Amino acid sequence: CGIVGYVGPQDARDVVLEGLRRLEYRGYDSAGIAVLADGELTTAKKAGKLANLEKVLAERPLPAATTAIGHTRWATHGGPTDRNAHPHVSADGRVAVVHNGIIENFASLRAECERTGIEFTSETDTEVAGHLLAAAYADAPEGAGRLAEAMRAVCRRLEGAFTLVATHAAEPDTLVAARRSSPLVVGIGETADGTAEYFLGSDVAAFIGHTRNALELGQDQVVEIDRARGVTVTDFAGAAVEPTAYTVDWDA
Ligand code: GLU
Repeated sequence: CGIVGYVGPQDARDVVLEGLRRLEYRGYDSAGIAVLADGELTTAKKAGKLANLEKVLAERPLPAATTAIGHTRWATHGGPTDRNAHPHVSADGRVAVVHNGIIENFASLRAECERTGIEFTSETDTEVAGHLLAAAYADAPEGAGRLAEAMRAVCRRLEGAFTLVATHAAEPDTLVAARRSSPLVVGIGETADGTAEYFLGSDVAAFIGHTRNALELGQDQVVEIDRARGVTVTDFAGAAVEPTAYTVDWDA
């Protein structure tokens, strides 16, 4: 339903929670957040209103981080439970993913993952994307762009409508995202001292408090955001794409 991602110098926990609050108007039944700090992913997720998630975070705070993703869920596959809330983490604990939309062919992909010994922890169509991404990352060539390459490989196998945002424990200060028939926008900002920061959102409300410089992702595109290398957009085959830049001109 609602997606927020952040990479930059601010406390990513606060930026993502604030973004989720700004997306509340869309309606949702659960919420969650994952942070990447010191090479470890940590998640917190809870059915119900954001206040429920905030209570969990108050009791068991996530570590401070410069990379985080968040989600407000409107359940389509699997009831609105804590376990079914996003982010979903791969069996190896290395990938966290949030998803809007429906992965139509999730059942056959799930069966394929289960045959390799992976145990699923939710009833969602989304969870399969995390496991597939972890496997695709292991297969992708090492070096810059590895996570984006893995995301492209996964997207080529997915049917349906999706916006996906993912982070990998081995890729600090990096987010990748993809979209097909479901919206995704990138926000490019700068803190007061001139340090670049990057936002991802299912709509610009997710980051309108921070920047008005946005890039709109087209159909079947993957974006990699990296604090060192900036923003790279490709199609699902890997061909470079020049994204459409625009200025958000409505009031927050
Ligand atoms: N189909 C996914 C689920 O049920 C995502 C739903 C959404 O867009 O929030 O978990």
